[in-house]
Amino acid sequence: MNYSFRKKNKIVKYIVIHYTGMKNLKLAYEKLSSANSNVSVHYLISRKGKIFNLLCPKYKAWHAGKSKWKNDSNINNLSIGIELENKGHDFGYTSFSKQQYISIKKLIIFLKYNFYILDKNIVNHSDISPNRKKDPGEKFLINKIGIKRFNYKKQINKKYKYKEMLKLYGFHEEYIRDYENSCTKAVKRSLNYRKICSTKSKKFLNDFSDLLFS
Ligand SMILES: [Zn+2]
Repeated sequence: MNYSFRKKNKIVKYIVIHYTGMKNLKLAYEKLSSANSNVSVHYLISRKGKIFNLLCPKYKAWHAGKSKWKNDSNINNLSIGIELENKGHDFGYTSFSKQQYISIKKLIIFLKYNFYILDKNIVNHSDISPNRKKDPGEKFLINKIGIKRFNYKKQINKKYKYKEMLKLYGFHEEYIRDYENSCTKAVKRSLNYRKICSTKSKKFLNDFSDLLFS
């Protein structure tokens, strides 16, 4: 068995976006739907835009692994997982297809409506496990699916410390403390930077601030 039951007091509030990171769709499909594997996911979207519903969202899929976000841990308990077919950083990372964007947009609209999920709770795997994961990566353009994750009100004349910005973004405080560089890289991925490193240039800090407060 590669999934489990959700506990009664745990409600779905997040959507976690992934890429498959495997050589082809068949391998990904087999792995994600095999009862003998230790991973699973609710939805898989092929490059052609076909949506495979591999597990009913009422069950808990095993897609996020060790993960934390804001004050929550073990995000599998609280989330629906969506995998996008993409070879990923290890096997030849490519742009996501137009059909994938069309399909994920439809799927997310459906899930948001049925599970009352807020835009701010739609997250990348790299956000909730920044020390371990890169997916869906810097080529995933969340703006294409009409999601606006952040719209904080900026306090006038307040100078935000970097760690405060990471906290506003949503990283768990333990990750901010132990893996600040990984958190920085995760932010760069969600800003769709081409080069992912942990340098905090002035431009990056401005882009980060615009992401949070615009
Ligand atoms: Zn993932």
